[in-house]
Amino acid sequence: MTREWNDRIDLRSDTVTLPDEEMRRAMAEAEVGDDLYGEDPTVRLLEEESAAAVGMEAALFVPSGTMGNEIALHLHGSPGEEVICEALSHVYVSEMGAMAALSGLLPRTIPAPGGLLDPMAVEAAVVTDGGYHSRTAVITVENTHNFGGGTVYGRPHLERILAVAERHGVPTHCDGARIFNAAVALGTSAAVLAAGFTSLMFCLSKGLGAPVGSLLCGSRDFIREARRMRKMFGGGMRQAGVIAAAGLVALRKGPARLPGDHEKAARLGRALAEIPGIVIDPASVQTNIVVFRVEPELVGGTVPPEGTAAAFLARLGEAGVLGGQIDATRARLVTHRDVSGERIDEAIERIRAVVGVAVN
Ligand SMILES: *Cc1c(COP(=O)(O)O)cnc(C)c1O
Repeated sequence: MTREWNDRIDLRSDTVTLPDEEMRRAMAEAEVGDDLYGEDPTVRLLEEESAAAVGMEAALFVPSGTMGNEIALHLHGSPGEEVICEALSHVYVSEMGAMAALSGLLPRTIPAPGGLLDPMAVEAAVVTDGGYHSRTAVITVENTHNFGGGTVYGRPHLERILAVAERHGVPTHCDGARIFNAAVALGTSAAVLAAGFTSLMFCLSKGLGAPVGSLLCGSRDFIREARRMRKMFGGGMRQAGVIAAAGLVALRKGPARLPGDHEKAARLGRALAEIPGIVIDPASVQTNIVVFRVEPELVGGTVPPEGTAAAFLARLGEAGVLGGQIDATRARLVTHRDVSGERIDEAIERIRAVVGVAVN
């Protein structure tokens, strides 16, 4: 039986949240001006509060996280240089090859379990001599790591990577699309996790719940250059205060709601771990992302041509539970504000029904 559209439980991403009443009201009432003349007071306020939230000097409102990351990489490197990044990092696998297409940069990928880079592997990958080899432009980390399963870099781990960068005089960029999830998981602040990075991007449009927008943060000088690049990349916006207003609500109210998302993900992870054929260590669920492996037994015993993950997700979709695929065998479910705890329980029941586990 295929479920009605409005009965679906959408766990594809935390980007699917809809703006709430408070955001809609703030958008309607926003004071605006032409931001390219620096005259949109709502955008300016959002940029100031964002910089303060991550403990950096300045911030720039950009239409997407991808643009924020790509402006940063463009400014940190020159054509022919390398970007050190994890093998499943967003900057490498989910940005349309933009670092190469827009900036002439090469990804130097390092695979890491759970997406968290080993500082010694980073050290080994850094190239500074440049006699034959492509020089390292920037070291990137993703915190939390999306395809690694929402995993979190703690401060001591970051310190070791920052020390490598410092030793070689290489800048650092944090893809902090979900930096507030990381801060909540560690019981610390985004500013503590951002400290020492040359630049950091975070998204308003993920778990914080805004309809649109991300912030690129760094020093005042860096953000002045980033503003020029935003215009060059086509991201200069005019009366953007209309969307920045929703972003301000997200920045102020969003972080306090994230523990609920993490609790829902933990519950989902524990339930999935009990289903034969689903492989997940429930302790690996640290934030709002649940990644698990699908064994062939879940999809009829043989490996289908599209892979076990796609086949299983198709069956879940028919039961009205939407998820995403990471690779041939792994799937991802993401919790967020618009799916309540009861709906997560409903999703668990539907998953059990799909795989034929008795619902108790
Ligand atoms: C979502 C995301 C981004 C930015 O995505 P946009 O869709 O361009 O806003 C960047 N990095 C990570 C890790 C993400 O999950």
